[in-house]
Amino acid sequence: MSGPDTVEHADAIVVGTRCAGSAAAIALARAGRRVIGLDSARFPSDALSTHLLWPAGVAELNTLGALEPVRELGAPPLTVAMAVASGPGYTVRAPYTPYEGIDYAMCVRRTGMDAALVETAREAGAEIRERARVSELVWSDGRVAGVRYTNADNTIREVRAPLTIGADGRGSTVAGLVGVRDQPFLDVRSGRNCFYGYWRDNKPEWRDTAVMWRAAALLGTAFPCDDGLVLCLLQPPVDQSPQKVTRGVEEFYRGMVEQIPGLNERMRGCELEGKVRVGLNISSYFRRSAGPGWALAGDAGHFKDPVTAQGIRDAMRYGRLLGESVARSLDDPHVLDGEVLEWERRRVRECMDIFQWTNRQARGEPLTPLELELYRSADEHPDVAVGLIEVYSRLRTPNNVVSPARLARVVARGISGPVSSRAAFTKQLGREVRDAASEWAQRRVALPDLPTPPTDSVRRAAPTSARQ
Ligand SMILES: Cc1cc2nc3c(=O)[nH]c(=O)nc-3n(C[C@H](O)[C@H](O)[C@H](O)COP(=O)(O)OP(=O)(O)OC[C@H]3O[C@@H](n4cnc5c(N)ncnc54)[C@H](O)[C@@H]3O)c2cc1C
Repeated sequence: MSGPDTVEHADAIVVGTRCAGSAAAIALARAGRRVIGLDSARFPSDALSTHLLWPAGVAELNTLGALEPVRELGAPPLTVAMAVASGPGYTVRAPYTPYEGIDYAMCVRRTGMDAALVETAREAGAEIRERARVSELVWSDGRVAGVRYTNADNTIREVRAPLTIGADGRGSTVAGLVGVRDQPFLDVRSGRNCFYGYWRDNKPEWRDTAVMWRAAALLGTAFPCDDGLVLCLLQPPVDQSPQKVTRGVEEFYRGMVEQIPGLNERMRGCELEGKVRVGLNISSYFRRSAGPGWALAGDAGHFKDPVTAQGIRDAMRYGRLLGESVARSLDDPHVLDGEVLEWERRRVRECMDIFQWTNRQARGEPLTPLELELYRSADEHPDVAVGLIEVYSRLRTPNNVVSPARLARVVARGISGPVSSRAAFTKQLGREVRDAASEWAQRRVALPDLPTPPTDSVRRAAPTSARQ
């Protein structure tokens, strides 16, 4: 790149201004900082992403001041959560436990939601520049001191600031330029691919309910969203789905809907609108996200398979927390670096449980005996159903629902079951033990010098800062 046509100065630069970037910009601007957000996209525009927000995600929109404009987009509040194990016919059905007063989920298409976030950032005082593609970092004394970008008018510009936040998604340019993009310190390949489409919804009686079905190794969801549509996502195992987007994708997608009886019934009479979108080669990861003069927020630093729908909430939450935690220390590089590091450690600490839970759901396999036991128990006991849904809302850790007592019951059942199924059960048990060991090893890598956070407490009553 040749030299810049202009050089300007700010307190912070945010590269990428959707979920994580807007949230960081909002927090910094509210703290009185001059923040410049640069995005290569124009808004409103879509992102390759489904978009279920559990109550904790809706609450995050509220904290950012973006809930009202997002609600105006017209997505129905989803007050009921449902998960169905198709084979044995177990149904988990529960209302949501309020998270910071929010007792509903929401599924708003990204075009409208992201534009509302950008607008909220602008109203807070951030300068958001669209069609501005960052391709270079400016370095000074071993620190990132700013960025160079190509503006909409094709001129090259330079902005300098004490902190550059990469919030530029999974393929992050900033992560690449600081040398961490291709070496995540945890990287778990997903066992599932994603195929989703929007259908005109003809089932008013389902407009308040988000449903997930598991049928053999297949997983399908139906989430009512804005404009009278219902988002239908299928996540087949990687080895049972196309490895690239071909003409036959819609046929494959429709075929999967038909394989899940409950989903097929839900979608009967609904019309598929537009093309089927596809997400392949998904990995869940943590990248090093803190360095001298730089930080990585949102997917740029940490990603979880969509199967548990946590990404948007975590991108917004930790984007905001980053902005809040550095706002006062931007003028002192030493303090700033410490704040950014502490922020990264907090995100790892708070996201590790759900990261590992997500990786289990993303294995691309049928429900395990342990998961079936959970479904069975939640089908019979409403309090267990509520507890299971609380995992997704981050009010409860997975270890809290997969308790040793429940594990013992599963083992007892498996051992006393018919001889014919004992071998399969023992194999599955071995798999669970191996997974638990590798999760323990992941924690050692990710959190070597941190005490393991309490994993068995319900955090409903905890102050906001203790929630995950
Ligand atoms: C198939 C799929 C389904 C998903 N479903 C869900 C779900 O149901 N619920 C959920 O919570 N999460 C879901 N997620 C995860 C969610 O999409 C992400 O976690 C979320 O989008 C992260 O937001 P972000 O702001 O970090 O990045 P992004 O939303 O990816 O935004 C990055 C921005 O950076 C900009 N950018 C990139 N490079 C540059 C550059 N060089 N210069 C300037 N700008 C740049 C891009 O234009 C973009 O606007 C899903 C993900 C996938 C792939």
